[in-house]
This record gives sequence, structure tokens and C-alpha cells, in this order.
Amino acid sequence: MDSQSNSPHVLIFPFPVQGHVSCMLKLAELLCLSGVNVTFLNSDIIHRRLLRYTDVISRFSRYSGFRFETISDGLPPDHPRSGNRVVDIFDSIKMVTKPMFREMLLPGGCLNCGSRPPISSVIADGIMCFTIDVAKVEMGIPVFLFRTVSASCFWAFYCIPNLIESGDLPIKEDDEMDRLVKGVTGMEKYLRLRDLPSFCRASDLSDQAFQVVTSETQETHRANGLILNTFEDLEESALIQIRKHIPNLYAIGPLHAHLKSRLEARMASPLRSSNSLWEEDRTCMTWLDEKAQKSVIYVSFGSMTMLSREDLIELWYGLVNSKKNFLWVVRPNSVAGDGQNIPAELLEGTIKRGYMVRWAPQEEVLAHPAIGGFLTHSGWNSTLESIVASVPMICWPYYADQQVNSRLVGEVWKLGFDMKDICDRMILETIIKNLMDVKRGELSRPVDRMMKLARRSIAKDGTSYSNLNRLIEDIKTSKT
Ligand code: UDP
Repeated sequence: MDSQSNSPHVLIFPFPVQGHVSCMLKLAELLCLSGVNVTFLNSDIIHRRLLRYTDVISRFSRYSGFRFETISDGLPPDHPRSGNRVVDIFDSIKMVTKPMFREMLLPGGCLNCGSRPPISSVIADGIMCFTIDVAKVEMGIPVFLFRTVSASCFWAFYCIPNLIESGDLPIKEDDEMDRLVKGVTGMEKYLRLRDLPSFCRASDLSDQAFQVVTSETQETHRANGLILNTFEDLEESALIQIRKHIPNLYAIGPLHAHLKSRLEARMASPLRSSNSLWEEDRTCMTWLDEKAQKSVIYVSFGSMTMLSREDLIELWYGLVNSKKNFLWVVRPNSVAGDGQNIPAELLEGTIKRGYMVRWAPQEEVLAHPAIGGFLTHSGWNSTLESIVASVPMICWPYYADQQVNSRLVGEVWKLGFDMKDICDRMILETIIKNLMDVKRGELSRPVDRMMKLARRSIAKDGTSYSNLNRLIEDIKTSKT
């Protein structure tokens, strides 16, 4: 697939964490398939890990109009960049990365030199609005923002000023967390204080994460458009609300399935497309092959969650006592404490019906017939992947958008159960039994229905399919 010198040239610039990089790479590939030239700007550290653990270079070598560039995220190499330390990236990006980005984008800078056409638009992570000042305001290059959270969570973030005005925020000490919140239009019937994005739990509104997310969200309207990894049938009501403020909205998800479907339409055998920043342990696929249909619960809390040792043990007992098979991802350095990730007695006890890996090929795992349920942190990518694979969920959200997503899964879409704020072995055991046995029939109807709606949205002339085509057209013709 050739680069065309008269084709548009898009710069894609993700916030440097797994979930953001992975789905923006999928968008990059979708654009390449449509003949758009793409430069993908990675942080040095993310890029090194991608090269180490994936085949991105050979995968993208099919597209002559694609190339990677790298930039510093401004943090020292040994910084953890996960858990609650992820907020440090915001500061360092503004201080160190922003001026570098400006230099690189100027005529003659490394993003705008050589035989390729100059950058004609930027798709930047929606939590990096400084790109609007640099690209759009200073240089006249259109900027589209890509938010990796659900539309509902974006809308909740957007409504934060209302929540402050109505007195819902900051949450007071004697507030009942199960009280419904009034200020998020369209979600008044089910959104409780407990379900607001985790940053809203800060008792002090000058909290850094709260401030950053609130102010970045309020700036979205300055961009040329907003791209969301969702589909109209899933989040219609939130999308309607957002469009009242940001009319140029493109709902083009679920991106992983959208990419797969467009690749399949082009090629006889599309390549496996992992964007993992850890080495995938594929031995779990052989382990799954030996298990009965829908007999295994898959457990993974994504790329950022930090577990306490107490939580780890509670979850483990819940799983073991449920007597179900389980496949559990325990990421390196994801358990707080003495550095020993999985206590030895747990490892021994797991052998009977469990299998633990440090990182799994998650999309493939969820698609495996042996998987009957997903104990998840409700990260947005994981939620979409579970929906497409038609796997019901037990949600145990950690932070950020996950509190909102898990409420939608449990209360609105009825695709599983929300175990928010509870980590108790007996409760988990009961919920697992409900998910895998007692309520399996009840859950299967909404789960199958949503899977079909997701697939319909990315099929030819489906809503996400048409929205992506509109985005590509707008990229081809856009001016500031
Ligand atoms: N993932 C994976 N293997 C694992 C765990 C996670 O490939 O063992 C992928 C998963 O498929 C998803 C991403 O990592 O695409 C996690 O993104 P999500 O938005 O769910 O959560 P985050 O990591 O951003 O908290």
C-alpha cells in the first residue's frame, strides 16, 4: 500500500501509556489502509518496548506511507509510569515534550522534512490539548482529538463544572456514595457519586489528576473534531449530549474489531496485530485449548492497575473457592509490597484449576471458546474487547474512567456485574457462580445482542464504518 505524494499526511500523537498507544495504532493502520500517509509519534520508552515485544515494524512495513518518530516523555527511564504515578507524565509532557514537539513540527523539523508531503493534520490524544496551541493556533494545521475513554465517561468529565456548581463535588465526608448525581444530563437515573470518574473522589479540587482531566476536557471544543472509540448503539445518549457541545464527533469503534474487519476485506490472511508493551505468554492458549467451552474465567486488570497484597489474596480465594477454572494475568510489578508478585502458596494452589501469566494475548484469549467470563478492571479497551467477544464481565474498577464504565456494564447494558469498591472473597465467589452458572442464561441475551450491534456498526455502511469514512474525507479536505 503505497504512499502518495499528493495524499494527506496525518501525525498521530498518543499519550504514552499502553491503552492509548494500542488503540491509536489501530486507528493509524485504518488510515494507512485508506491511503493516508501517517507519522506515529511515540515516546522513546514506549517505542523501545513496542520494538522489543511486537512485530509492529514488519506489520507496518506493508504501508509505505507509514513511519514512526519518537520524542521524550520527559521522565527518567526508571520512573514507574503506572498506578498513581501516571500523573507525573502530564507535567513532564507539558514541560519537556511540548517544546520539542513544536521544534519537530516546524518546517524543516524532523516531522516535516524529506520527500513526504508536509503534515496536513494532527490526531492527538485528547488529554494533550497543548497540541492545539502548537499545531492549530501557531502553524495552522487542523487538530482532531482522540479520547480513549467511553463517550459516557467523557460526558461525565465534561459535566464536572456542573457538578461543582450543584455542590455534588467535592464529595463531602458524610456524603452517601450511593446517592444519585443530578448534574450529568442523561445519566441521572443510574449514576451515583460512587460511579463518577475516580478523580472526583479527591477531597481537594486542586488535586492534580482532577485538574488536568477537567481542564483538558473543557478545551476539546477548540479542536477541529473529536474521535471516540465507541459505537452509536452502545452510547447513543452520551453521544447525543456531547454533540450539543462538540458537533463534529466521530464514533468509530470498536477500533480493534473495525481494523480486523477492514483488514479481512483486503487480505486473505491478515497478520496478528499485537501492540503489547509486555511479552505475550502464548502458553495460555494451549492451556485454554484443553478446557471445556465457557468453563474459564479470564482475570486481567490492564496495564496500570496496582494491587495491594490483601486484594490479591482476597481475589485469589474468591476464584479458587468458586471452583471454576481461571486464567489470571499478573503483570510484573503490579502488586504492591515486597517485590515478590505472587505469594508462593498461591502459586501452588493455583496449579489445580488456574493458570497465571504475566501478560496474555488478550483479544485472542477473549475470543477463545473456553472463556465464559471476564473479571476486569473495566478499562475501556478491555470492555470493548469483551463486548465484541460476547463475554460477560465482573467489573472491579481501579481508577479514572473505569468507575463509570463498570456502572454502565452492570446497570445499563446488563452485560455483567459491578463489584466496585468491594474486594471480598465470599462476594466474589458468589458473583463468579452467578456469572458462570446461575445467571448465565439471563446474561446471554444482552451480551449477544450487544456483540451483534458492535459488529453491525463496523460492517459496510454501519455507523462506525460511515463515521470513519467521514473522518478520512475530512482529513483529506480539512483546513484550520
Ligand atoms: N492487554 C493485553 N494483555 C494482557 C492485559 C491487557 O493485551 O494481559 C491489553 C488489552 O487487550 C487492552 C489493553 O491491554 O487492549 C488494556 O487497555 P484498557 O483500556 O482495558 O486498560 P488500561 O491498561 O488502559 O488500564
